Amino acid sequence: MENSLIPYGRQSISESDIQAVVDVLRSDFITQGPAVERFERSVSEYCGVNYAVAVNSATSALHIACLAAGLAPGDSLWTSPNTFVASANCGLYCGATVDFVDIDPRTYNMSVECLEEKLKAAKQLGKLPKVVIPVHFAGQSCEMARIAELGREYGFTIIEDASHAIGAKYRGEPVGNCQFSDMTVFSFHPVKIITTGEGGIVVTNQPRLNEKLLRLRSHGITRASNLMEGESHGLWYYQQIELGFNYRMTDMQAALGASQMKRLDKFVTRRHELAQRYDSLLAGLPLNLPWQSPNGYSAFHLYVVQVDAADATMNRSHAFNALRAANIGVNVHYIPVHTQPYYIKNGFAEGMFPEAERYYAKAISLPLFASMTDGEQDRVVSVLRDFFKGIFMQKELT
Ligand SMILES: *Cc1c(COP(=O)(O)O)cnc(C)c1O
Repeated sequence: MENSLIPYGRQSISESDIQAVVDVLRSDFITQGPAVERFERSVSEYCGVNYAVAVNSATSALHIACLAAGLAPGDSLWTSPNTFVASANCGLYCGATVDFVDIDPRTYNMSVECLEEKLKAAKQLGKLPKVVIPVHFAGQSCEMARIAELGREYGFTIIEDASHAIGAKYRGEPVGNCQFSDMTVFSFHPVKIITTGEGGIVVTNQPRLNEKLLRLRSHGITRASNLMEGESHGLWYYQQIELGFNYRMTDMQAALGASQMKRLDKFVTRRHELAQRYDSLLAGLPLNLPWQSPNGYSAFHLYVVQVDAADATMNRSHAFNALRAANIGVNVHYIPVHTQPYYIKNGFAEGMFPEAERYYAKAISLPLFASMTDGEQDRVVSVLRDFFKGIFMQKELT
């Protein structure tokens, strides 16, 4: 066990999680049964929001959220370049154009100042975005109150990509209450805060968005007679009134999710303990440690350090390789989306969002997950300490 792999993130599965899935397998419904609504209720009650629509991934959740917002060809969607590609791709799925807003170098979230400047310029050109997707990077909320003000002033829909942030708080309230947005999306991929294997959810306070999301999840079909054209043919009758998808979550997944929700606060508390331990164990090394805004309480999906040595890029790669060589599953979040070949082909270029690029050149995500032990964390820290000791010794020799 001395040298076994420590991943950057992983799920925590308990015996009661396993039992919850087994119970579904022994029941009458393994999909479209009662577990999905139970899970949706547990998320909406936790967040203090009216509606929740569970789907098969956060990518699907972002897609139907954009469609529900009315995003269509001719419109544009803005998001952060420091995110997973899904936060931008959802705009392209709808035939819209996608653009980015550079990040704040302290939080690595979308910069509100850059957003405001870009909105002013876009207004002059008559090219305001229809949808803006702030991403709560690493689990720390964006400055939502200010983004909501800009939303009112410039008239865009706000979809929070809170894939990293279930269990986080902003101004003392749970992320996902949609006080400063139209919809919020969470991901339940196994590296995220809680898991359903694959899965995602959209939450909202607006009944019309909820109804639209429910239809888009399931083929655009309705059984509500007030929404139908003409008369119902009978109890079997349904109508497809728009183009939807099969983005449904299974009852096995939802039962796992509902069971995980019971431990959400414990997971986030443990992530905070580990983050604070990293803060003190890494102090003094040439690293920038995560800055935490006093306006929020992060879910700490990621603990990102920036290698702050003279030749930062080289040392980031060397530090990364040294950690990997010691079987520590570090990662980098994120390669700026606009520098992906697919986005370059669509007109973007390196240099367009310099803060995101500067951040990327120095960043390493250290292992962080609820079931991580202090011993595992000590191993990560000692590899990093040895790495920097090696660099300083080399410097003294030359
Ligand atoms: C994980 C993630 C997604 C996509 O989530 P899936 O559930 O894997 O589809 C979207 N946005 C961000 C910021 C993510 O981290």
